[in-house]
Amino acid sequence: MSKYQHVLIAVDLTEESHQVIEKGQGIAERNGAKISLIHALEPLGFAYGGDIPMDLTSIQDQLDQHARAKIADLAAPLNIPQERQHILVGLPDSEIHRIAKEQGVDLIVVGSHGRHGLSLLLGSTSTGVLHGAKCDVLAVRIQKED
Ligand code: AMP
Repeated sequence: MSKYQHVLIAVDLTEESHQVIEKGQGIAERNGAKISLIHALEPLGFAYGGDIPMDLTSIQDQLDQHARAKIADLAAPLNIPQERQHILVGLPDSEIHRIAKEQGVDLIVVGSHGRHGLSLLLGSTSTGVLHGAKCDVLAVRIQKED
């Protein structure tokens, strides 16, 4: 079986990110693969449908800086260089697909919550990533931390 060479770990920057990173790191180590991290920031204008008559640029910039600092903290113990820490503005699944293709990723790792009811119908990032992915996708079942 061929080995993975480039593992892309998608993080929502919550506490759960550690669980997803840990799994991705284990696989990367066993395969001798490099790791990239990705976080997508929702465009503020998109979230509010353009209804707010104000310039959201500086708030978006602050969110961007905050995310960069958080992803750098996660990347440091794994020695992931800055060029493999991707912070982008857009929808998580499409940005993850875009970067995976652009960077020659052969495994995407995402977290997955056991969903039911309405949230199952609405779908999740992991489902969105799986659909249309051009490489393997690992959905890491998130364990609730007490
Ligand atoms: P969710 O479906 O939103 O509960 O998220 C499940 C998983 O999708 C997370 O553990 C991450 O791996 C990934 N994910 C969710 N939101 C983002 C985001 N904004 N950027 C990158 N990955 C994300």
